[in-house]
Amino acid sequence: MKSYDRLYIGGEWVAPSSSSVIDVFSPATEELVGRVPEAQVADIDRAVAAARDAFDNGPWPRMTPAERGAVLAKVAEAIRNDMQGIAELITNEMGSPVSWGLMAQVLAPTMILDYYAGLGSTFAFDTVKDGLLGPVLVAKEPVGVVAAITPWNVPLFLAVAKLSPALLSGSTVVFKPAPETPLDANLLAELLEDAGLPKGVLSVVPAGREVGEHLVNHPGVDKVSFTGSSVAGRKIGAACGANLKRVSLELGGKSAAILLGDVDLAEALPLVMPNAIMNNGEACISLTRILAPRDRYTEITEALVEAVRALTVGDPLDAATEVGPLVAERQRDRVEGYIRIGQEEGAKVAIGGGRPEGIDKGWFVEPTVFVDVDNSMRIAQEEIFGPVLSVIPFDDEADAVRIANDSEYGLCGGVFTGDTERGISVARQIRTGTYMVNSGIPIDFSSPFGGYKASGVGREFGEDGLELFLEKKTINLPAGYVAPA
Ligand code: NAD
Repeated sequence: MKSYDRLYIGGEWVAPSSSSVIDVFSPATEELVGRVPEAQVADIDRAVAAARDAFDNGPWPRMTPAERGAVLAKVAEAIRNDMQGIAELITNEMGSPVSWGLMAQVLAPTMILDYYAGLGSTFAFDTVKDGLLGPVLVAKEPVGVVAAITPWNVPLFLAVAKLSPALLSGSTVVFKPAPETPLDANLLAELLEDAGLPKGVLSVVPAGREVGEHLVNHPGVDKVSFTGSSVAGRKIGAACGANLKRVSLELGGKSAAILLGDVDLAEALPLVMPNAIMNNGEACISLTRILAPRDRYTEITEALVEAVRALTVGDPLDAATEVGPLVAERQRDRVEGYIRIGQEEGAKVAIGGGRPEGIDKGWFVEPTVFVDVDNSMRIAQEEIFGPVLSVIPFDDEADAVRIANDSEYGLCGGVFTGDTERGISVARQIRTGTYMVNSGIPIDFSSPFGGYKASGVGREFGEDGLELFLEKKTINLPAGYVAPA
C-alpha cells in the first residue's frame, strides 16, 4: 500500500486543503493499493499561483534549454534504475500487463525524456535571418503556465509526453493526473524534485473532472495540454476558445487495420495483434477495426480467433500475462455493454464475449472478436476501450479506404500488404495523424503524433511537441545587424 498524506504543490509536499482522499484499487485483486489526498479548487488556486510566480520571477525560464534538458535526463536515468518497480506500481493502479508495461509504461517514458533532453542542446530557440524588409530575430519563448491533464491508461507515458517538452520550453506546470493513477504522478514529482527542478515549477493535483474544469478555466493558466476522451476534449476546447487560451488536444480513436488481398498473414498478424489488444484494449491507438477482403474473410477471421485464443489472460503482475483486467468495474460494465450492443446489432461473437473462466477476482473481460460486422454498427463506430475487435469485410482497396475513413476519429491505423509502395499509397488516402505500413510501431517519439477529426488538435512528440509550449516572437532589427558570435 502506497500512501501519501500531502500534495506536491509549488515544489513542496504540503497539507491538502481538505480531508478528502482518492483510494486506488488494484484492478486484479480489487484490494486497496494506494491513497492520496484529493486536490480541491483551493489546492488548484495555490498550485497555479506557485506556477505563475515561478514563471514570472523564478530561475527556470531564465536557465538555458541545455540546463533544463539536463534535469530531464536525470529523471530518465532514475526511471531506468527501477524499471520493474515502476512497471508494477502502474500495473497495480490500472491493470496493464507488466510485460507490456515495462516497455510502454516505463521504457518509452525514458526515451521521451532523453529525446527532449537532447533537444535542449540542438533545437533552434533563436533564429536570426534576413526578413523581406530587414534582419529579424525570431525567438521561441516559453508559453507560460501550463495545465497538463491526462487519463489513466498510459499514465506515466502521457505525463512525460507533456511535461518533458513543457519543462524544456521553460514553462511551469500544474499537472492533473486522472484519479485512477495518482501514485505514478506523485512518483514523477519526486523524481523531478530529486533531479533539481526548482521550487514552484511543478505541482501535481490528483482530482476528478470538476476540479479539472476549474484548472482549465483558471485565468492564471496560459495553455492547456489535454489527453483524454473526445467528449471532454470538446468541452475543454470550447472553454479555451472562450478565453483565447492556447490548447492542444489528444483524444479518442477507432483505428482500422487494413489487410489487403496480397497480405501474408504469418507476417502481418504478429504486427497487427499487439496493436489490436495492447494494454487490455485500453489504448487510444488500438487497431480495433480489422478490415479483411471478402474473399479471404473466413481465413482471416479464423487466424484472428486462433491468435486471440492463444493469448494468456490473467494476473497482470505475471510476466507471462498478455491480457489483464480493465481499470475499474465501471469500465468492465461499459465493455460488457458494448458486447451486448454488438450482438443486438447482429454481429456474431467468434471468440470471447464473457468473463474468463477460473478468475474470480478482478475486472476481467475475455478478449473478444466480433465477425459479420458492418462499419455502421455502434461497435465499429464508438470507442469501446476494451479487448474487443470487429472484423469488417471489404470489396476492394477503394472500399477498404472508404470504410477506414468512415469514422468520426482519425488517430492511427495500418495497412498490411505484400507491396509496401501500395501500402504507402493507401496510407496517403487515410485521414489519420499516424499510420503503419507493414510495421508494428504506432508512434515514433521524434515525429509528430496526433489526431485528424475528433481525435484531436495539435501534434505531440518530435519538435512539434515542443512547439506546443512555445510562443513565437519576431524582433525586427536595424539594417546591417550582425549577431554576436
Ligand atoms: P476522460 O476524458 O474522461 O478523462 C481524462 C482526464 O481528463 C482525466 O484526468 C479527467 O479527470 C479529466 N477530465 C475529464 N473531463 C474534464 C473536463 N471537462 N475538464 C477538465 N478535466 C477533465 O478520459 P478517460 O476515459 O479517462 O481516458 C480514456 C480516453 O483517453 C479515451 O478516449 C482514449 O482514446 C483517450 N486517450 C487519447 C490518447 C491520445 O494520445 N490521443 C492517449 C490516451 C488516451
